[in-house]
Amino acid sequence: MKGVYDYIIIGAGPAGCAAATRADAYGLSVLVIDEQPIPGGQIYRTLERTDARRMALLGKDYQQGGSLIEAFHHSKADYLPQAMVWQLTPDADVYYLCDGSAGRISARRILIATGAQERPVPIPGWTLPGVMGAGAMDVLFKSSALVPEGKVVLAGTGPLLYLVTCHLAECGVDVKAVLDTRAFGDYLKAMPWLPGAMQAPEYLLKGLRMRAQILRRRIPYYHAVRNLQVSGSNRVGAVSFKYNGQSHSIETDLLLLHDGVVPNTQMTRQLECDHVWDPVQRYWKPKLDCWGNTSVANISVAGDTSGIYGAKSAQIAGELAAVDTAFCLGAISSREKEKTVRPLRKQLKRERAIRPFLDALFQPHPEFYRPVNDDTIVCRCEEITAGQIRETAALGGLGPNQVKAQIRSGMGPCQGRMCGLTVSEIIADVHQLEMPDVGYFHIRPPLKPIHLRALASMEIE
Ligand SMILES: Cc1cc2nc3c(=O)[nH]c(=O)nc-3n(C[C@H](O)[C@H](O)[C@H](O)COP(=O)(O)OP(=O)(O)OC[C@H]3O[C@@H](n4cnc5c(N)ncnc54)[C@H](O)[C@@H]3O)c2cc1C
Repeated sequence: MKGVYDYIIIGAGPAGCAAATRADAYGLSVLVIDEQPIPGGQIYRTLERTDARRMALLGKDYQQGGSLIEAFHHSKADYLPQAMVWQLTPDADVYYLCDGSAGRISARRILIATGAQERPVPIPGWTLPGVMGAGAMDVLFKSSALVPEGKVVLAGTGPLLYLVTCHLAECGVDVKAVLDTRAFGDYLKAMPWLPGAMQAPEYLLKGLRMRAQILRRRIPYYHAVRNLQVSGSNRVGAVSFKYNGQSHSIETDLLLLHDGVVPNTQMTRQLECDHVWDPVQRYWKPKLDCWGNTSVANISVAGDTSGIYGAKSAQIAGELAAVDTAFCLGAISSREKEKTVRPLRKQLKRERAIRPFLDALFQPHPEFYRPVNDDTIVCRCEEITAGQIRETAALGGLGPNQVKAQIRSGMGPCQGRMCGLTVSEIIADVHQLEMPDVGYFHIRPPLKPIHLRALASMEIE
């Protein structure tokens, strides 16, 4: 590894791999840092180690990551796997933890391509063993070929929920039901965006195929479910819900929850980049120019960290960010830059055409983003309930940082990644404010827990 790189890229998903390959082609010195042992990110996780059976099951969308990863390996970009970045500075210093040791490395420019995370789904009982995210199941399946034993129920909404349902059913898992929060009105809200979505019909067809597969397998499917609750004494026993105005309960050994994914903004927050609120999908995203540059000089963002647009968009956005970096560092002329980006921008427009439709169709449900039951745990690390947050807000806590200082919500090991959005939503509800007026937690390093020993062993100049 070098002392100072032209370009450090954090994340080896579609955005990071594509940016690294492109930047290397322009002769820049590049380092890619990623927590995972091999490149691929969320969608192409463990692709190079996946056996033929799983490869066939995960389908074309998964397999097509092969060429991206191969090109990345063929590039001269340095690659630091199993390394977690826990701090960035506006001077483009990157602090990381690898093999139990903490280190620091510098760059002229940095690309944050750390992807997305599942939106928290705080319902009563969601912290019981046997309840997890559908995305987490996807991670276990891709990385370790694990599928659950016993009865499984999936609840929430979003394309990933259906994808995981199909994968599990294909593997012979006993899927007892899909409890979808989407109602007829959501389809109506999405209709105005359907003509735009037709620009890339393959996404619509994929959705219809998944729906058909669930029907073919006769998996009971409930629409517009409400009042989801988990019951069980020391682990999940059943999930209850309202459907068509009537109460239902289904026994299960595993409940998989999902309500879409949201940008992973911990790094851009820690750097104090400007952020904007997406009122449809109800998440924060960094404020960017058309190249992915943030409000902090020399720090840019690509992929799902910039907003949820999917894997192919992430790849193109990674390339655009790399082209801009090559130009800023004097590796290419403005003419070459413009010539290169024209087809990329066209592709990006096509890939993103489906998003307004998907965003309108799969809007997060208020029952999840503003839990009404006071006993529901919101901050899992510190075991703080919705009622405690509501009460602290009502006593004068106008923002998440005030509430955090008083009751420690967001102060645990996850640093608010799990509860940040929900805490702000509850405060907004109590004071009848808009989310941009409430804001978000101040994010401090370390972004994820590191041992004091590792910190103490760092060389200090
Ligand atoms: C759990 C989950 C499962 C998904 N599964 C699918 C799917 O099956 N099909 C589909 O079409 N879309 C899926 N998506 C959406 C998909 O991830 C994205 O559209 C696409 O992968 C985005 O690419 P990206 O490069 O922006 O980020 P990602 O692919 O998410 O890659 C981000 C990378 O950053 C690394 N990283 C994050 N934080 C740090 C850190 N602090 N230090 C070092 N490295 C870090 C991660 O290890 C990861 O490799 C999934 C999303 C999630 C959250």
